[in-house]
Amino acid sequence: MSGLLLHGGMGPDGRRLDLRTDPATGVIAAAAPALDARPDDEAIDCTGLVLLPAPAEPHAHLDKALSSEVVANETGDLPGAVRAWHAHWPTLTEDDIAARARRAAEELIAHGTTAIRSHVDVGPGIGLTAVRPVVALRDELRAQGLADLQVVALVSNPQTPQEEAPLRRLRAEAMELGCDVVGGCPHLHHDPIACTRDAFAYAESIGRPIDLHTDETLNPEALYLPELVRLVAESGFAHGATASHCCSLGVQSAAIQAEVARACAAAGVAVVTLPQTNLFLQSRGIVTAPPRGLTAVRALLDAGAVVAAGADNVRDPFNGVGRSDALETASLLIVAAHLSPAEAWHAVSNGARRAMGLPEVTLRAGAPAEVLAVRGLSLADAIARGSEHRVVVHAGRCVSRTEVASSLLPLIPVPVLS
Ligand SMILES: [Zn+2]
Repeated sequence: MSGLLLHGGMGPDGRRLDLRTDPATGVIAAAAPALDARPDDEAIDCTGLVLLPAPAEPHAHLDKALSSEVVANETGDLPGAVRAWHAHWPTLTEDDIAARARRAAEELIAHGTTAIRSHVDVGPGIGLTAVRPVVALRDELRAQGLADLQVVALVSNPQTPQEEAPLRRLRAEAMELGCDVVGGCPHLHHDPIACTRDAFAYAESIGRPIDLHTDETLNPEALYLPELVRLVAESGFAHGATASHCCSLGVQSAAIQAEVARACAAAGVAVVTLPQTNLFLQSRGIVTAPPRGLTAVRALLDAGAVVAAGADNVRDPFNGVGRSDALETASLLIVAAHLSPAEAWHAVSNGARRAMGLPEVTLRAGAPAEVLAVRGLSLADAIARGSEHRVVVHAGRCVSRTEVASSLLPLIPVPVLS
């Protein structure tokens, strides 16, 4: 059996770890401090690299990504981003979306992300123009063996009662075209509870997962997450329920945070925190001690809820920066949510995979062979450096390699800087 041998690297704990992956089955065939190369192994020297469970991106917007140079957010906040993007809808073409989505996906893969969930706009002003290219990209990435992509139909909110029926039809067409997950944005709806119930009832009726933009606001009155949790708990919904953002939970009292977090854990509702976009969009105009805008990450972890983290928007009107890199998201979680490096990495890897309904990855024989090897002396060191020097394994195959060489004058090789 030919395999891929990653040798000479270290596990997250800094101890020597070799892995042999099997491209035929997509699992880790062997894991040990030292494995002997077989004649037909493809061997990759991982000296100086830390081997980690590959990250997953639980919340991307591939249809919007990499558009910030042409779409300006004049006010810098969420309403400004929505206005700018909706004004841009009429000029969007499927070719433009396909090209940017592919580039954004390639950036994620090169950084080690082997599973991606992307929300995609569906609405009267854009129809299914964004759905078709992103669904096609999902099929392309699968056929090329590069990554798993899940597509969420992010349905607009009706601006008038007359828009309600056409929007429901568009949502159904988006799912028939190949979207995997039912999305929506209740906190921007004129009736957030009704919007949550409608999206949930639809997901339940077609047996698909639900992933809502929930409470992306620091208004403490806008706390609609408990309604989604109640619906899931009372119905026994088993298709996968995810709440993204949940910023307003972060501005509640400790007692309310703990209560909602316990309910999330009990119902199995995963919460996705998106530190970079929250830091970019939230707290605009608050001059003194602006909140960080993140959800109650610590309370959710303490309650045992599934906590995932992602990059969200990347270089678009909703976030002007971003590297499409889970190491960047993990670093932000350490700084802005005060997580440990291990907690942060879990949120961007196995926490994200659980939120996406994917099996967890361990660096042991029998586990899915989804691995990122990145320059560093330990997990904490790798997150702090964010080196581009990486090896990425998806389904047992090496799908991306980036090599960086640094020198200090007079040209003495300094591998630790790479
Ligand atoms: Zn989003």
